Amino acid sequence: MQGLFDFTVCEQCYKEVIEPEVRQGVELARRLDQAPAVVGGPGFTCQLYSERMRRVWKEAVSMGEQMGLEHLRAKVTERKAKERELQMKTAQLQQQAASLRIQAQTQEHLAINAMRVSLSAASNNIMLAGIGAGKRIDANHILVPSGQADLSQTTQLNNQAAMLKVQAGQVEDQARMAQEEWRRFWE
Ligand SMILES: [Zn+2]
Repeated sequence: MQGLFDFTVCEQCYKEVIEPEVRQGVELARRLDQAPAVVGGPGFTCQLYSERMRRVWKEAVSMGEQMGLEHLRAKVTERKAKERELQMKTAQLQQQAASLRIQAQTQEHLAINAMRVSLSAASNNIMLAGIGAGKRIDANHILVPSGQADLSQTTQLNNQAAMLKVQAGQVEDQARMAQEEWRRFWE
């Protein structure tokens, strides 16, 4: 607005907030009314839809044109910086969580493979022991008794997967907190 700062307001907020004040002759509103940025084009974000910013607007109006303008500029600039910061933070955390979830999935696949390998090794041993003892063995129907197969690697991989999922959940919580911070204090 008039090269001072980037204050963009959507059509609806303009009608609800600024236009009535222009008609009442409020200086600050009249000055903004002449600024091309007041009603933004495509890709802009409205800065007057939230309860907080409408309160800031009221404060600015009550301060008179010059001080009101300063107040509005400070608040809009601060809000924009926070918006960028929290958007970046949220995106980074979401990416981190997604990567942790993929790692957890990989560990789970590896755990299933490790279990197959262990069971097949155990059933081979049983078969060989049976043949060694002169028994007739049906290779397709070997029952591996529990404790006979070494599943320690499977367990370890599953534990790693569980830990990665917990970490992903914590990172997702942090991302939600950043969004919550935006809604509660800056929107
Ligand atoms: Zn709006």
